[in-house]
Amino acid sequence: MSAAMSRFAIYPGSFDPLTNGHVAIIQRGLKLFDRLVVAVANNPQKTPLFSVQEREQLIGEALGHDPRIEIDSFDALLTHYAREKGISTILRGLRAVSDFDYEFQIANMNRQLMPEMETVFVMTGEDYFFVSARLVREVATFGGDVSGLVPKNVAEALRKKLRR
Ligand code: ADP
Repeated sequence: MSAAMSRFAIYPGSFDPLTNGHVAIIQRGLKLFDRLVVAVANNPQKTPLFSVQEREQLIGEALGHDPRIEIDSFDALLTHYAREKGISTILRGLRAVSDFDYEFQIANMNRQLMPEMETVFVMTGEDYFFVSARLVREVATFGGDVSGLVPKNVAEALRKKLRR
């Protein structure tokens, strides 16, 4: 397929840390797009559990080498980053209705800032719709078992990070 016909999308998120819900969205995204840029947002207003470098590394280890996937990070506005990359399609996941309001606002704000931007939403199956990185962090902080919710290497990294 020629480059001009390839479909590219950016999947942005905090990924603090990567969960099985994210992995499911990436796998579904690869059915729709030829290439995905998994872009870790470096938001200075948030205090993350894992640094951007750690998050990128965990994603890389969990997904293994796949020429269709690029792992990157950004600390600018998503629309600026997308322009810089030359990609105008954004992939986002939807869980329950509670995600909808927020995602709807962001998608419309982004389109305001970059009219050619389109956001494509993919829904997770019932297996992971309840999984959020925030809940995973909370459960792991209190010593709960998150092994069914995150890739193996992430569970291991959480154990190391939270070992007291
Ligand atoms: P989280 O909300 O888990 O902290 P991010 O901010 O990294 O995750 O989210 C990146 C994108 O992935 C968002 O569009 C979010 O809705 C989506 N997402 C995260 N977890 C899931 C899941 N379990 N199922 C579907 N989409 C998800």
